Amino acid sequence: MNNNYTTIDSLSQHTNREVSIAGWLYNKRGSGKIQFIIIRDGTGLCQCIIEKGKVSDELFEQLKHLGQESSLSVTGTIRADERSVGGYELAATDAQVICPAEGYPITPKSHGIDFLLKNRHLHLRSHLQWCIGKIRHTVIDAVRRFFNDNGFTLIDTPIFTAIAGEEQQSLFEVDYFGSPLHLTQTGQLHLESAAMSFGRVYCFGPTFRAEKSKTRRHLTEFWMVEPEVAFIELDGLLELAENFVSSIVARVLKDNKSQLETLGADIASLEKITPPFYRLTYTQCVEILTSERARGFLAGQLQEMQEQKQQTEAKIAELEKQQAGQIKQWQRDKNAAELIELRSELAEINTKIENNPKHAQLAAEFTWGKDLGGSDETIISQMHDKPVFVTHYPKQAKAFYMKTDRENEKVVLNFDLLAPAGFGEIIGGSVREDDYERLVARINEQGLNAENYEWYLDLRKYGSVPHGGFGLGIERTVAWITNQKHIRQCIPFPRMMDKVYI
Ligand code: ATP
Ligand code: MG
Repeated sequence: MNNNYTTIDSLSQHTNREVSIAGWLYNKRGSGKIQFIIIRDGTGLCQCIIEKGKVSDELFEQLKHLGQESSLSVTGTIRADERSVGGYELAATDAQVICPAEGYPITPKSHGIDFLLKNRHLHLRSHLQWCIGKIRHTVIDAVRRFFNDNGFTLIDTPIFTAIAGEEQQSLFEVDYFGSPLHLTQTGQLHLESAAMSFGRVYCFGPTFRAEKSKTRRHLTEFWMVEPEVAFIELDGLLELAENFVSSIVARVLKDNKSQLETLGADIASLEKITPPFYRLTYTQCVEILTSERARGFLAGQLQEMQEQKQQTEAKIAELEKQQAGQIKQWQRDKNAAELIELRSELAEINTKIENNPKHAQLAAEFTWGKDLGGSDETIISQMHDKPVFVTHYPKQAKAFYMKTDRENEKVVLNFDLLAPAGFGEIIGGSVREDDYERLVARINEQGLNAENYEWYLDLRKYGSVPHGGFGLGIERTVAWITNQKHIRQCIPFPRMMDKVYI
């Protein structure tokens, strides 16, 4: 960066001094005598005050008519002002327009999500996207720091692979010089071989799954971090996972408080994310789902949502009434933006009201042996104020590599970690089957081609040890922490089944 420009995040060190900042025009308001323009420079937002008489008349007029997202530099004195965005403001004495912009398509008013995704290349400049991007950066840094500080070695696993680690249906096939290969669904299998060399390893990279369901929690390309540890049992894995997740949340709370506030994250709940997390077995979850307690919980939720619906409808009616009368233009614009928000909130509440009985029925009729569905996970996680480990799933619902519980052959030594408040799964992990014969049997049972797994089976021939690991999805973690409904907001350029926008 040009050394002559001061970054907005360092303005606190420059109070009562003259500096120059450079960035883009984020928003502006004002009159014929004074203009308030908000500049963003990638490190923060700063309000600049342009007073007639303090700058040339020509410049005042130019700034008054300058379009949103024009690039410019502004020089002036920094004053502390609590009311101002970022806590400081700049009293301008000079400015220079670098490149004027006209007709920027994304205005500060609300737009539909489809429009914003089509304009993702520009929407990344919005304050909300900026806040999420900053938090994603912290999460990724905290992930690396945690493993690097705890004796793990980073192993880069391949993206082109011949073997499947997850369901066959979600493989993306690529033509590799005339032969089919897949894009990786997980680095786990390769990582297991590295764990037998380094002991504690992790991989971190893009992961591809041809997810055919359109849910708020599935992308076709996402980032996953996967640790793998030799000489570990299920208890050790759970401890590792809860320390890991707690350390990520603590780092975000430390580094990104103001972004969390802007995004409306539940900071009080995040502050509670410390070990130990809740531990439930799959069988206990089935008991909860089919219990009176769950039924009562869901009925209570329905009632709450109906109350919310009434309140939202009343607010909409009030604003519509105001819009029909005589009001100032700025008030009309503000109301219009609020109405867009309220109507989309209402649509969401209606969907939840519609789904509630369906989810209640699915839960009540849940039978032992099925995998937990999204709505079941949501119910369990809504009933807890801290993350919940769900362990010991039925063998038939899970991947071939998970170790059978020797004390109960019907279940495997695995876990999912459900984030609280209804967010759902952010981690899946397990102890791996370390017995050669059992693993061969599982590969055959699942109809996989044993030839492709020869090298993987070697690990069970030459010094097999108890080992295990897990995978944490970055976008889901960021969505949970930042309180985003859909994980597509938590990756700069999302890829989904139905659309790849830019
Ligand atoms: P789900 O049942 O929700 O599809 P999964 O059991 O397929 O998840 P795992 O194979 O255990 O998930 O993957 C580990 C983690 O990777 C998940 O807990 C989640 O955080 C993340 N993840 C899995 N699939 C996706 C996806 N399609 N998009 C984004 N993140 C994902
Ligand atoms: Mg899946």
